[in-house]
Parts: sequence; structure tokens; C-alpha cells
Amino acid sequence: MMENKILGLHHITAIAGNAQRNFDFYTKILGLRLVKKTVNFDDPGTYHFYFGDESGTPGTILTFFPWANVKPGKNGAGMATDIGYSVPAGSLDFWKIRFVQNNVAHDEVEERFGEQLLSFRDPDGLHLHLVVSKKTDNRQSWQTPEINNDVAIKGFHSVTLTLKDIKATAAVLISILGYKPAGQENNRHRFTTDAIGSANTIDLLLSPDENPGINAAGTNHHIAFRVKDENVLMQYREKVVKAGLRITEKIDRNYFFSLYFREPGGVLFEIATDNPGFSIDEPVNELGEHLKLPEQYEAHRRQIEKVLPVIDQG
Ligand code: ZN
Repeated sequence: MMENKILGLHHITAIAGNAQRNFDFYTKILGLRLVKKTVNFDDPGTYHFYFGDESGTPGTILTFFPWANVKPGKNGAGMATDIGYSVPAGSLDFWKIRFVQNNVAHDEVEERFGEQLLSFRDPDGLHLHLVVSKKTDNRQSWQTPEINNDVAIKGFHSVTLTLKDIKATAAVLISILGYKPAGQENNRHRFTTDAIGSANTIDLLLSPDENPGINAAGTNHHIAFRVKDENVLMQYREKVVKAGLRITEKIDRNYFFSLYFREPGGVLFEIATDNPGFSIDEPVNELGEHLKLPEQYEAHRRQIEKVLPVIDQG
């Protein structure tokens, strides 16, 4: 791990509809752990769920804002349109059967860049796939009674961005974020960073005729890149500013510190730190069990709990 570099993906954030359905799909069907149950810091009447491995290691975290009455969104240009999760070799048969048994919309197994993958949609229509990485992925998975280590999701493999033109986005990946071109299949252009061994792949899908997407249920809101700490975070802020792009000030997200900027292709990028992590306000063995609120909302806990739907986590 090269400590002053972008260390692949930190998290991806998407929009969901019904909160219980979202919780059930990601914890029960996919076997991820809810590592944090908090609220949208900009809209505390809405949950913010974080799903990942045991401790919520960066590179495993998919987060959702579940909005009960949100309209369905639509993938399109200027969005992150597909999320790839790394799974063990030999596990795709297990997943295909599981998807059939649980009525999960999915496709046939296909091959991309010499790797087998199984595409599927979550209950809101979010596009994801499971992929068996050519490179050994030694990350330790979260396990459930139904999903053991031989088949369990290890964390992100990659994310796909759909773009009308890839040049300016590729330049951001290469000259600011330290990625390198890693091949092309049809209109799919792959970029990887060797600063870390997993969650280190971004695919740019060149789609000149694609309409802009609609960012609502079943679509991604932003992707976050990972850095070690705030010192490295602020070094990247300088690089983004020097490239002439607008970027936010450092924002305290309780579990990490963040910067946000929109890359030229329209996708919202975030850079987020490893510190302080999800165990800052509850022990690792209790992650996700309690509604955690940032300090500014703690005084309003009773009202917030009244507004939020009750989630059955059994
Ligand atoms: Zn984020």
C-alpha cells in the first residue's frame, strides 16, 4: 500500500426506495454487514446505511440513502452506472442459484477482460455484478449462516462510469488520481492503480449517444476514492485545484473526512480518509446495531427516531 496515493475506491453511495427492503437485500441476500445505521447529515429525517465487511474497511463500503417516496431513477451519461463486487473463484454457480431462488433479476454469466462475471439488479434496479478476479483477492469476507467464506463477497472489484466522452475524465484519473490505462474491450476503457491490490479498477464506458441519467432510486449518487489520512487528502485538494476544477472544503463525515468535486464528464467524485473509521462511536462487534447520530442531531434524537421507519434487523 503506497501511503501517499489514492488507494482505489473508499465507498460508493446510491439511492434506494424502501429502507427495510434495502436492508434485507444487502444483508440477507448478498450477505454484507450493516456497519453503520445513521442519518443523512444534510437531511436527518432519512437514513444513511453503510454495508461492508466486518469493520467497514474502505473498498468494501456501499452506502444508501433510502427515501420511501423517491421516484425511480435511470442510468445515463455522467453517472456511475455499474458496481463490480469481487467474489471467490467457483462461487458464481452458488450466486446464480441464489438469485433464481430469491427472484433477483440477473443475466447469464459472461466474460470481460478474461474474468467471469454475473450481472444483477437490486430491488430498486441498481446495476451490480459479481466478478471472479484474475488476481488473488485475499480480503476477509463477512460471513452469514447462508453465505460462507467460499462464496462471500470480498468488497469492490471496480466501478463503471458511463460518459459521452472519456478524454477529460481519463485525464483526471491519470494525472490527478494516479490511475493507468489497463486495456480496452469494445467501448469499455479500463483504468487501474497499482497503489493497492483490490478495489483498484475504474471502467469508462464511452457512450456518445447516451442521454443524461436521472439520479433517483436505483442509481448511484457518487463514488469516493480512498486516502490514508487528512494530510494526504489535502495534498489531493491542491492537485484538483491546480487542475482548474472546483472542489469543496474538507468536510467531517464523522467516520471519515471528505472532499467533493465533479469530474468533467459529470460524475460526482469524493475523496475520503481511512480515519477515524466506523468504530469511532460503537465497538466493532456492535456495528450497525444502534442508530448513531452526529453530535449536532443528538439533541433531536427522539424526533428523528419518530420520523425514521423502524427496521427489523432480525
Ligand atoms: Zn460519500
